[in-house]
Amino acid sequence: MDPRYVAKMRLPDFWPADEAGINAHIAAVPAERLEKYGTSAGGRDLYLIRRPNPGRPRLWVIAGTHGHEPGSVASCFNLLHILDHGEDLKGKPWPEIAGLADELDITVVPVFNPDGRARCPDSLVGWSTGGLEGLAQSWRKDRSVVAIEEAVPNGINPDEIIFLGGRFNDDGFLANRPVDVSTTLFVEFQQLLAYMEAEPPECYIDLHACGSNFFCMNRGFSEPYREKLREINTATAARIKALGHQYSDNIYGDTEESGILGNVRMLYVHFGTLAFPYEGRQGFLDILPWCDEADIVDDYLIAIRETMRLGVEQGYIP
Ligand SMILES: [Zn+2]
Repeated sequence: MDPRYVAKMRLPDFWPADEAGINAHIAAVPAERLEKYGTSAGGRDLYLIRRPNPGRPRLWVIAGTHGHEPGSVASCFNLLHILDHGEDLKGKPWPEIAGLADELDITVVPVFNPDGRARCPDSLVGWSTGGLEGLAQSWRKDRSVVAIEEAVPNGINPDEIIFLGGRFNDDGFLANRPVDVSTTLFVEFQQLLAYMEAEPPECYIDLHACGSNFFCMNRGFSEPYREKLREINTATAARIKALGHQYSDNIYGDTEESGILGNVRMLYVHFGTLAFPYEGRQGFLDILPWCDEADIVDDYLIAIRETMRLGVEQGYIP
């Protein structure tokens, strides 16, 4: 590790997380692969990129659910670059990802919540964790932070706060906290669910960031799905640790009933999708990310690669 990291807003070229970078990468997607599936509360286009492969396991990779988690978005564009060119945006080859992609039906949603992304910083490497909670969950005008549970039933009124957190769209609704397993107030997810109806994902990788360790926050599944999850997570953990990166193994402490009700739970209940969130390194829950953007991208890509491998070897549906 380079001990001289400094607070900075300068973004590496391989980290397209700002609106200009996102728009440039979307514009470069071949028209036959690009699908506009809706419009955000703030009026931004919602896109997905398709690599159909009929009859193969259907894998979805989604990023940017939370606007304050820019590394997930940057990593998705690195994944797309690998699928087309065999190497990521920093020039690192990922031959296994490129090879496995031919055996899967892949859909990528690089920026699920573009409203949140647009108002949050484009990298948190080098930041202090102080203030990140408000960055995620909004500050009221009296500078107090909105508790996430308060916003679940009805959202929050954007006019009553001084900063709308990265967890929200421009109308003040939470991206990843449905009211119940049948009801989401997040219009972006309503539109994505409608799109999915015809061919639901068999596996759904939901890229997030909230720890100093990379980990899989996976709850709310029954066996035999949990066995699949353990297998993916064990493989991912071994390979991330082999690089000397931090990884938290403790992801199965909770029972099926006790987990957070997030979008992955909705997908599991509705479509039987093997769906889980990977939490990249950012420091929201713990320390600031003492690593570089390149490490953050590599962690996500390793998790995606191992999940691809499992799908090719044995499929996602138990
Ligand atoms: Zn998140």
